[in-house]
Order: sequence, then C-alpha cells, then structure tokens
Amino acid sequence: MSRIDLHLHTTYSDGSLPPAEVMALAQKANVGTLAITDHDTVDGIPDSLEAAARLGIEVIPGIEISSRYGEGELHILGYFLDWKDEALLVELARLKETRHDRNPRIIQKLNELGLEISYEEVRALAGDVSVGRPHIARVLMNKGYVTSAKEAFDRYLADGAAAHVPRELPAPADAIAMIRAAKGIAVLAHPVWVDRSGDRIHRLCEELKEAGLQGIEVHYSTHKPEQTREYLNTARRLDLLVTGGSDFHGVTKPDIEVGRGRGSLVVSPKLLEPLRKAAAAGLGVLVAILLVAGAVRAQGNSNAATSGGTSERPGRVQEVNGNFQPLNLHAPQGQSPSAPAPGSPALSGSAASPPTPPLAPLPPLMPLGSHTVVTPRPVSPPSFGTFGHR
Ligand SMILES: [Zn+2]
Ligand SMILES: [Zn+2]
Repeated sequence: MSRIDLHLHTTYSDGSLPPAEVMALAQKANVGTLAITDHDTVDGIPDSLEAAARLGIEVIPGIEISSRYGEGELHILGYFLDWKDEALLVELARLKETRHDRNPRIIQKLNELGLEISYEEVRALAGDVSVGRPHIARVLMNKGYVTSAKEAFDRYLADGAAAHVPRELPAPADAIAMIRAAKGIAVLAHPVWVDRSGDRIHRLCEELKEAGLQGIEVHYSTHKPEQTREYLNTARRLDLLVTGGSDFHGVTKPDIEVGRGRGSLVVSPKLLEPLRKAAAAGLGVLVAILLVAGAVRAQGNSNAATSGGTSERPGRVQEVNGNFQPLNLHAPQGQSPSAPAPGSPALSGSAASPPTPPLAPLPPLMPLGSHTVVTPRPVSPPSFGTFGHR
C-alpha cells in the first residue's frame, strides 16, 4: 500500500519547489495520496491537481491558516476544501492585504527611531519576491546601522524588538470558521509547535473543538513517540480525527522528506477513510441546512411577495453561519472542562479514530469578517512565542 502525506508546501507559499516537483518527489517516495497545505492560500491547488493527475497521485485540496494565539501563532489545517469557494477567496485576499501592510509600518517605526530607511529601498533590494523582514535587515546592514542580519533582528525586527510589528492574524475560531464555511475539515497543525505540554494541548483542543475543530495532526516530522501517543490519546478522548504529515518545505527544511519526514514518519493510509467520511458528512449536514434554509426563504418570499425579494445569493454558507450565535471560545470562569465520555470507543490504532457522527449539528461558528472580535485567551501562556519553522 502506498504512503500518504497530508502536510506539504509548495512555492505558492514558502516551499522551495513548485507543485510539479513536489509531485515527482511524492511519486519517488511511493506517496499515493497527499494534501497540499500552503500557508494562507489555495492558489497552488490547480497546478497541484494537474501535476498529480499526470502521475496518478491523489491530491486533497488543503490549506494551513495561521492564527493568533497569545504572543505566538497557532496553525489550522483545512482538508477537502472547496478551494473555489468565493467567500474563502475573499477572506484569503483580505488576509494577504493585511500582511502587505506590515512592512511599511515597520519602516515607519524605524524612521521614528531615527534610522533613515525607505520602503522603496527595501522593495528595490527584494526585486521580484515579496518584501520580508530579511530584506529590511539587509538594507539596515548596507547602511551601516547594524553589522549583521542577526543584530538587525535582535535590535529592531524580532518579536518584542524596537521596531517589531506583529502580523495581523485571525483568531483561531475565525480560521476554523473559514475552513468549515468552505466545507473543509479543520485540524490543529503540529501541536508540538503550539505548546510543549500535552495537558495544555488537550485543554486547548477541548476549547477549539467548541469552535468547530475536527482533528489533530498527531503524526508529524518532529513529534517524539511519547508526544504522538499523547496527541493520539487526546484525539481518542475528544473524538477528534487523526491526521499526519511531513510539513515538507523543500530546501527551507532540508531534513524533511516528502512522505517520510525525518525518515521515521509513518502516516497510515487508514487515516483517510474517517477523514473522507467526515468531509462527506459535513457536506451532507450543510446540504440539509441549506435545503431547510432555502425552504424557509422560499416560504418567506411567498409570504411576502411584495417585499421585492432578497439580495442574498441562495446557497451561501455564510448565510447559514450568520444564524449561529457568536462563538464563546472559552467556558465561563469556574466551569470545569467536560470529562471524556465514559465508554468512548477505545482506539486500538490511529486508524480506529471514529468519524464525526453524520447528523451531529455543526458547532457554532464565528461569522466571517469578525476577526479580532474573539481574542483567544490561551489556557496558559504559550511556552514559546514564535515559530522557527515558517
Ligand atoms: Zn505550520
Ligand atoms: Zn506547514
């Protein structure tokens, strides 16, 4: 049986290889099914599908959305995404815009500190690639303000440094809502990067599940065996799907291979079936809700034939979500986390992860476009604030 790998990046985000080359490596590694999960974009999906089709590889359309978690980040993977979903594309375009706004703000802060540097200089140095902090560091070096890129980061650009501007990111609940509104399965990426404590990850997953989280990336290139066991246990106790992937980036992370991670990663193809079932069940629930919503709307229209109708487009997921209560990600103070259901199915292996019940109502989701309304308060401060892996 061929391998699977549910976490791969291409040049459409920060990977070093275009989809065709990632697929060629996948074929060499005997990977038959993979998910392309570029950061905050689905732009690489068409190329990936095309390249994979030529080699007989199955591509699950995916994404990895960065969200704000305390001082750090929390990444949510999305699988079986409707990557053509209009609302999703609008949201992603908006996130991209806020990213581009960041660099001029960093320059402005540097100017306020008395350093003469312009955005034009940085753009000229970056050339065709999009401007990032390393380019700003190089201009600072060229102008003699610092002697190394490290010094530029330590003094000005790193988290907490004098000219640091945090990335504007959605709340975790918003990232989950974006994925689910586009019919995707929302999964917590690489929990080990979020918090070293398995207990805190468990409590975080409980809270995120309330926001619509459906799975956890149990198998990951840098998870130690005991961490994998802990996350598997959390998945079993919280009835979350189990996924796994390498987080392949090409030369950016030279020690990580497609389908094999650092050599010992094994992601069982048996994980696919529960994922597929959950994706199909999610679609079924959405269709049922939309049919009911459509019937109610049709009834409303016939009851008020003179109202001039509605400008709403039928069948948009947000209309459904808009009816949900705004999400309270955190339980009221003093409320103890719910205990695992007694007699919940034992997990004799990762493949035994039970699928989401097909008729379970969707959890309340944040309406789209409401970023920063819910600011997640971490269970306790994250053990480290930034990620070295992006
Ligand atoms: Zn990530
Ligand atoms: Zn990743």
